[in-house]
Amino acid sequence: MTPLYQGYVDERSIAHVKGWLRDVNDANARLAYEVVLPGDEAERVLASGRADGFSEILVQVGVGDGGYAFEAHFNPPLSEAERELVYVRPQGAAHRLELAPNLRTDPPGQGPYQGFVDACSTRHVAGWVRDLADGARRVVIDLLLPGAGGEVLLQRHVAAQTNDMLRKAGLGDGQNAFFVLFDRELSEVEREALIVRVHGSAHVVERSPRLNRKFHPLQCVRLDIVNNCNLRCPFCVYDYTETFRTNVMEEATFQAALRLIPYVPDGNFWLSCLHEATLHPRLMEFIALVPREYRRKLFFTTNLAKRQKREFFEALAGSGLDHINISLESFDKDVYERMRKGARQGIFLENLALLLEVFGQTSGRRVFAII
Ligand code: SF4
Repeated sequence: MTPLYQGYVDERSIAHVKGWLRDVNDANARLAYEVVLPGDEAERVLASGRADGFSEILVQVGVGDGGYAFEAHFNPPLSEAERELVYVRPQGAAHRLELAPNLRTDPPGQGPYQGFVDACSTRHVAGWVRDLADGARRVVIDLLLPGAGGEVLLQRHVAAQTNDMLRKAGLGDGQNAFFVLFDRELSEVEREALIVRVHGSAHVVERSPRLNRKFHPLQCVRLDIVNNCNLRCPFCVYDYTETFRTNVMEEATFQAALRLIPYVPDGNFWLSCLHEATLHPRLMEFIALVPREYRRKLFFTTNLAKRQKREFFEALAGSGLDHINISLESFDKDVYERMRKGARQGIFLENLALLLEVFGQTSGRRVFAII
């Protein structure tokens, strides 16, 4: 059967070509190819080989078993004018492979860039990238999805957001971060295939080994479900002198705040920020209002000074929350009761023993002490 050639040259630089080639009429064949530089008098074959390399991207876009990729390098490098003439053909055939619409022409591995994709969900991508040769330059990134005819541009963005952690880590001036919301929600396959490439370059921004695949545009949600504390510690950052009664959050307010819970990382939806959450008579009911899959995002701090029943700790241990913090200054009774004004150490220790016993029987719950 007459071969029906299909393929593209995806990259063509002064030093290499890269692409894929197959015969649609014989999907099992691995075709030989030649890289050709035409000349005035005679053509020159710069490289040749077999297009049998595996490409996950080809599989994802439905090109057979994906085993049709090729990559060839030549040395010494060509001039840019010569590069423009280079083509790839199946060996012994007149067919010339088409150039991909997003053909890249810079040599691989020569981009002076540094960065990582730190998060990539179906709704966003975030990370940082900087130009090592020019720290003041803001790098433009292309978000690309592989397609049968080459990479398809999804969005273009300038990596110029502030991330002070980068500066503190000595990674430039800290103005190299990016956080891009996609115009449409991607499928999970697309999320895995997404390429973040420095615009006009072959440099692909690497995915962090600790890549976060969840959509967490909010770092933290901090609530106080009450406005009061049962203690009056002398060092407290909050002035309770004008607080004469305990106001509690209403369920409707809590439900409204819960709309944000999908968007925070685990342990970062706080039920207490300044005050004592256990003063809310419906604390456990509020926790039960949180959909089970989001309970691991919950956290609160308690002074553990209010006597609690075993059932309270059992409900807490079985609730699915991420962790709780316990505040204490000292196991010395005098110091504790002076610093935790209004608390009795005996009650605190009873609570603590009960909590540790109950939590010890329930795997996966975490307790931290703030001392
Ligand atoms: S337990 Fe915490 S919130 Fe309450 S008075 Fe002491 S420091 Fe302030």
